[in-house]
Amino acid sequence: MTRVCFTFHESVRQNPLIRHVIGTMAELLEVGVRVAAPGECAAPNEVEVFTGPRIGAPETAAIVVPCDAWESWPAAGVQVTKIEEAQALVLGDSTSGAPLERELPEFWLRGAAFMLSREEEFAEPHRDEWGCFSAYSSRLHELGVLSKPLINQYAAILARRLNVWCEHRNIRLSERPRWKGGAKFAVVLSHDVDAIRRWSVAQAWRLLKQARNPRDFAFRHGVTSILDSLRHAKAIQDPMCSFDRWMAEESRYGYRSTFYFCVPAPKPRHPYDPTYRFEDAVEFEGRTITCGELMRVMIERGFEVGLHGSYLSHESRDVLSRGKSQVEKVLGRDIAGLRQHFLRFDARTTWSAQEAAGFDYDSTLGYNEAIGFRAGIAAPFHPWNASSETAHRILELPMTVMDGALFRSLKLSPALAARRVREHIDIVEAVGGLAVLLWHPDATDPESHPGWWDCYRETLAYLATRPAWVATGRDIAAWWTSRESKSSH
Ligand SMILES: [Zn+2]
Repeated sequence: MTRVCFTFHESVRQNPLIRHVIGTMAELLEVGVRVAAPGECAAPNEVEVFTGPRIGAPETAAIVVPCDAWESWPAAGVQVTKIEEAQALVLGDSTSGAPLERELPEFWLRGAAFMLSREEEFAEPHRDEWGCFSAYSSRLHELGVLSKPLINQYAAILARRLNVWCEHRNIRLSERPRWKGGAKFAVVLSHDVDAIRRWSVAQAWRLLKQARNPRDFAFRHGVTSILDSLRHAKAIQDPMCSFDRWMAEESRYGYRSTFYFCVPAPKPRHPYDPTYRFEDAVEFEGRTITCGELMRVMIERGFEVGLHGSYLSHESRDVLSRGKSQVEKVLGRDIAGLRQHFLRFDARTTWSAQEAAGFDYDSTLGYNEAIGFRAGIAAPFHPWNASSETAHRILELPMTVMDGALFRSLKLSPALAARRVREHIDIVEAVGGLAVLLWHPDATDPESHPGWWDCYRETLAYLATRPAWVATGRDIAAWWTSRESKSSH
């Protein structure tokens, strides 16, 4: 069977990011691929995609990805254009002229690198009140293309042109399905466990103890929580403690989700860190068990438990590594993934810290205030490490829709929110991508989160009508890693 070979002009050696971006695109193709070293040739039975200066392109290459110069792309100058029918990024209003079928426009590669390497996050110093690079700082958001998985669309253009070239020559490429079981696209259902109950004097007291003055979040929130907890001391069911409902609703469709838990005493601790402990009580299927027992039940039933990295952990290998061991100790087994609390994330440091702490995947890369694709990609990918000029080993499973973004930032009604999620799922299905949904477990409380739970139930019912592979983050990451091992880099 024939495979596609990505070759590079010798000069690409000077810019390792180019080969990394092409390698990421190659993994999105549903055919066998080999990514050659710069200067290395394709074998006679391989279909060649050449990247480099036009003048150096071999006659035999099926597709040429031109790369004559690597110009700098200040985010403010980036605009939206089109390649075929799909939206694409370009610097200024330059166009490629009449496109050749064999040659992709030069901005195809540069634009992909712009999105995947997160260079706008390096260039833009502004951070929001939680220290996050916000959607409002993103050029993709400003241009109205954050909701489009442009990288997947770029890969689809390449795939289509390769198919046409092969069809004309009667060449059949070896197939490599993108998702398990021939599913058209994939979805991760995930939950950040910021709270295990609404009413708990003990948990509220732990928060209050951290207050340094009456204007503190810890003081204000601690006091209201204690009063609220005392008022409901006799309540039988806590409205935010409904892990059994989440698990039952997902299990109805045969789905398993991922729950990211916080550790009890992160060092350093921030007042925004949750105050529950693994020995605290939760109601579960009519019984009272500890949070630690709940976590083990989740594992036994095929759900995934991961780490919800504490507020100050996103830049520290040691804090993340301690958190990982604490969760693993409770579970009696290793964990694979995490998401950072408040989505606190720094493209310069967080992936390195997570990777050094031993995580296989992260699923933080999304926005608190918008839905869509922060790096333009709806698929797992290896982030680029700009300081070492290599790819990170850790996989990123970009988070694409969060409940809070729909209801708090976009202020959508439950019906509109459900429609927006359906549209998002349709967009991901159309490119055969990956959607990562985040709903907080306390969203079952109708008083504080009106409509959030119903929106989630509606979303699950909709998903059940689609050809999706719904899996935990761990399963998706493992699948992608094994799929990568079949291609040659
Ligand atoms: Zn959180």
